[in-house]
Amino acid sequence: MLHVDLRDLARGPVETKGELAPDDPLFQGLDFTLAQPVVVGGRLQATGEGRFYWHGTLKTLVSGECRRCLKPVSIPISSDVGALFSQDSDAQDDPEAYPLDPEADDVDVRPAVREELVLVVPRFVECRADCRGLCPRCGKDLNAGACGCPPTTDLRWAALASLKDKFRD
Ligand SMILES: [Zn+2]
Ligand SMILES: [Zn+2]
Repeated sequence: MLHVDLRDLARGPVETKGELAPDDPLFQGLDFTLAQPVVVGGRLQATGEGRFYWHGTLKTLVSGECRRCLKPVSIPISSDVGALFSQDSDAQDDPEAYPLDPEADDVDVRPAVREELVLVVPRFVECRADCRGLCPRCGKDLNAGACGCPPTTDLRWAALASLKDKFRD
């Protein structure tokens, strides 16, 4: 479970285990696409009056697009999360802590799952380090071979050459 009852936490650390589907409302509004459920593990424990520390793990697969050639790319995500949940009213101002309602009877670790994903999912990926991308003129995938467009440097020289012609007369 990704909600842990405070009464269980009073007895000792509790394992957090769960899977969140890509279409879970928790992930609404993210600017990347989950290709697989997010597998969550870890454990939550009390660290003082109304304070709980979660050491969690996340694993999933995100589908992205190569920023050079636009080919679909699968991005494996695997991350460790450390998050503090607190019922203390001071936690409202602490950017490091997730505030909990003083009346809460459980801790929901899912907001920390979402936040960690936002932090760790890379937005600019490449299908491979030496991807040649698409030709900016004809759009052909240059990984499949040259397209026949003149290289851009030659175009620049051609423009210079035609300028030279203009100044000649
Ligand atoms: Zn590529
Ligand atoms: Zn081309």
